[in-house]
Amino acid sequence: MALLEIKNLHAQIEDNQILRGLDLVVNPGEVHAIMGPNGSGKSTLSYVLAGKPDYEVTAGEALLDGQNLLEMDPDARAAAGLFLAFQYPIEIPGVATMTFLRTAINAQRKARGEAELSTPDFLRLVKEKAGDLGITQDMLRRGVNVGFSGGEKKRNEILQMTLLQPKLCILDETDSGLDIDALKVVSEGVNALRAPDRGMVVITHYQRLLNHIVPDVVHVMNKGRIVRSGGKELALELEASGYAGYSQDAA
Ligand code: ADP
Ligand code: MG
Ligand code: MG
Repeated sequence: MALLEIKNLHAQIEDNQILRGLDLVVNPGEVHAIMGPNGSGKSTLSYVLAGKPDYEVTAGEALLDGQNLLEMDPDARAAAGLFLAFQYPIEIPGVATMTFLRTAINAQRKARGEAELSTPDFLRLVKEKAGDLGITQDMLRRGVNVGFSGGEKKRNEILQMTLLQPKLCILDETDSGLDIDALKVVSEGVNALRAPDRGMVVITHYQRLLNHIVPDVVHVMNKGRIVRSGGKELALELEASGYAGYSQDAA
């Protein structure tokens, strides 16, 4: 069975139709890249899958492991194994990053009927994984993403993903705002999570990220639909030709 199956998805925000019949199938073990011009609806797709309010699905379906995602509230989607790393990670002043991570892990364990992690086990796990991503103890003590640079926010998203071990990871422009060293750290974190039973959707405007996270399938999105799909060489072709053939005007 497909891990993620999206059929004819249509969605709008404030009466603006953004997704216009999007189809996508991600099988377990696969890494898919979604590329496309600015404004084509890439972030909208990730918000709709996450269940962000204000986005109205007007047609179509989205199944995760055969379960209807669109009927679940956002927490249930996360418990079912969906994880989204957003283009603009939110700041949560007053909630220490460490506390946030612990709450997220334990909520997920509870949903799976597992016991909470003990404090020493949690601390050991976070210390190890944070260290791999170059996240300092000081950052873990600060409010979630508060005062973090763009690159630190992205690394923090990958840390959450690493700790939660989701079934399906969607990364929205995780490369934006990263210098080459941070890009490598983030890519290594993502690559470490590649697994036969896990799927990934990597949304990016640029080909560069895909030198580090090599996709099995590349899709081009335009005007709210997938308009072309191919192998990893499609990303190189787009890098050379740009998105000139894909315009955002004319609805
Ligand atoms: P991408 O991530 O591919 O750059 P987005 O999903 O961010 O594209 O945006 C797709 C389209 O939706 C754009 O035309 C954008 O202007 C429009 N859009 C995004 N958010 C809103 C909003 N809150 N209200 C109205 N239109 C929006
Ligand atoms: Mg954009
Ligand atoms: Mg976007």
